[in-house]
Amino acid sequence: MRITRLSTAVVEANYDWVLVRVDADNGQHGIGEAYMGPGVPAILRDFATIVVGADPEGPQVLVRRLRAASIHAAPGAVDHAIAGIETAVWDLLGKTYGQPVWKLLGGRFRQNVRIYADCHAGDALDSLSSLLQPRSVAWMGGETQRKGEISLKHHGWNPEERDFPGPADYKRRARQMADRGFTALKFDADIPTPFATDEYNRALSRHEIEYVYARLAAVREEIGPAVDLAVDCHWNYTVADAARLAKALESLDLLWLEDPIPPRPIEPLGHLQAAVSVPISTGENLYAVEDFWDLLTIGRVRVIAPDVQKTGLLRAMLVAQMADLRFVNVAIHNIASPIGFIAAAHAAAAIPNFLALEWHGASVPFFDELAGGPVIENGHVRLTDKPGLGIELNTECAWRYRKAGEPFFD
Ligand code: MG
Repeated sequence: MRITRLSTAVVEANYDWVLVRVDADNGQHGIGEAYMGPGVPAILRDFATIVVGADPEGPQVLVRRLRAASIHAAPGAVDHAIAGIETAVWDLLGKTYGQPVWKLLGGRFRQNVRIYADCHAGDALDSLSSLLQPRSVAWMGGETQRKGEISLKHHGWNPEERDFPGPADYKRRARQMADRGFTALKFDADIPTPFATDEYNRALSRHEIEYVYARLAAVREEIGPAVDLAVDCHWNYTVADAARLAKALESLDLLWLEDPIPPRPIEPLGHLQAAVSVPISTGENLYAVEDFWDLLTIGRVRVIAPDVQKTGLLRAMLVAQMADLRFVNVAIHNIASPIGFIAAAHAAAAIPNFLALEWHGASVPFFDELAGGPVIENGHVRLTDKPGLGIELNTECAWRYRKAGEPFFD
């Protein structure tokens, strides 16, 4: 079998969903997804010179060849593209042999993959460019939620806005998601507050910590012990203030505290994890296997969070195996379309120490339509024996929300 064609499309959702399709000479095709990033669709198409003509029956061999060919390029966007191609090849292989991807990966430890719902800052409706700039897209009714100059500290928020979600909004959002069957939720800690703040010094005031605590405590009160609660900080704080925040949130018994400080250098992470009781989670922006190993050993993190649209399935599973050696759980990061999301669910099924997979698509009204039907049922993805990824991209729907100026599987 040989790959005869590689093509791409971008769907403009809450983020750019970068899709890649490979066609083979046996009449089958596979779809994959690469993590967004400036230039990623073009990098995908550059790889066609290697992918077209390649034998898709050895995904790990093809991945190795793609990595070797791009050795002079910086990690990041290139890895995103390779992850997308790898996923498409797994889908193609599964369809060719009539087997689900989870089986090709070694078999599943579970049929129902637990999903955690990303609830942001208690609100929804947002669309961000590949450089995280707010944009107006048709499916949002032309609306741009975040206006004006965007804060670095608050992950895309404009601190001049004053209609910030309050505890009641957080409660409402948590109740909605718990009622949909999710047994784990994640909210952001790095939210704008009414208090004066320095955007660059990573410091948190007592005011800010109390403001965040009030919202997250409202969530815990609403969901009780039946639903787990995780909190994301998007790399924003000093070691000292991350420890203060962790201590302030201690009574909420968090599933994890995500990225309170950047994942590199590693030593500060180790100091922080040693100083606080909450499990620290990180990994969504890492690529190299050795970086993940350092996180586990020097960083001592207690939850590890690779992103399958960045690492690819094979590397995510290797990271999971390393984590398993350290008795650490894997919570897979995900902001993808149903294609990348389901690909990650297949990896999750084949990872023994899997904890939960992120779902970031609640505010995208066409998420299920793009997959041809409901993707999540009662807070879980139920993996079947259908070949490949087990879902078909609704190309008519993808075409409707395609990004202007990008090829559409041409
Ligand atoms: Mg995160």
